[in-house]
Amino acid sequence: MVTSFFNRAKKELEKKDEFIGIASHELKTPLTSVKGYLQIIGHKKEILPDAVKQYIDKAITSLNKLQWLVNDLLDVSKIQAGRLEYSLHKIDLTELVSLCTENARHIYPSHVFESQPETGLFITGNEERLEQVLMNLISNAVKYSPANKNIIIKANKRRNKVRVSVTDFGIGLSEEQKGRIFERFYRVEDKKYMSSGLGMGLYISQVILANNGGKIRVDSKPGKGATFYFDLPVSK
Ligand code: ADP
Repeated sequence: MVTSFFNRAKKELEKKDEFIGIASHELKTPLTSVKGYLQIIGHKKEILPDAVKQYIDKAITSLNKLQWLVNDLLDVSKIQAGRLEYSLHKIDLTELVSLCTENARHIYPSHVFESQPETGLFITGNEERLEQVLMNLISNAVKYSPANKNIIIKANKRRNKVRVSVTDFGIGLSEEQKGRIFERFYRVEDKKYMSSGLGMGLYISQVILANNGGKIRVDSKPGKGATFYFDLPVSK
């Protein structure tokens, strides 16, 4: 009786994961095509009225957000199916941190980013996926620090590891929340600070780091901000 209930529940969950996988895959193609057409129109700026240019820029910003969500959904379903695969290479983490900081300054002009990564930090990993992790930590730092706008991004060598950290001075997390934020679909239920998201970013980041030989952790106190950091083995 109990076994058949659990079997049924397990099958339902598998069906749901399969649905998320198919739906996100199907959404990806039309989304890419709409964005492509808008970008083509946007390139004809000289013949467009100013108001239309502004609407196109706004539409592209919204589409970028939608693309992030769809890509995250796709990643979650790949993880569930054990198919989040990518190649590992020797990469320059100093360069990657500088690139992400530059991107952040461009995407989030509301915040001030401080970053002076140590030079010569080489690790073995997947550049695109580590960029995804770092941009996710930065976007969370921005989302959850609406009042204090300073964000510090660091990268240093610590014995045979490289540590990358993102610090904000925002709403912070309680002990209980810290224990749960890396779970799939977990979000802190605080209406006051609710912002868009589906609770997938940290779950995906954790899996990516594990696949790159690393681990993600958080130091935080409610109201005092948060430092998310990860260590990766130095490449020889
Ligand atoms: P999302 O931000 O899309 O909800 P994440 O998996 O990235 O999903 O984060 C899970 C939850 O962890 C968030 O909903 C938020 O409550 C909390 N969180 C993440 N980063 C921070 C941060 N820098 N400061 C405070 N809370 C955070």
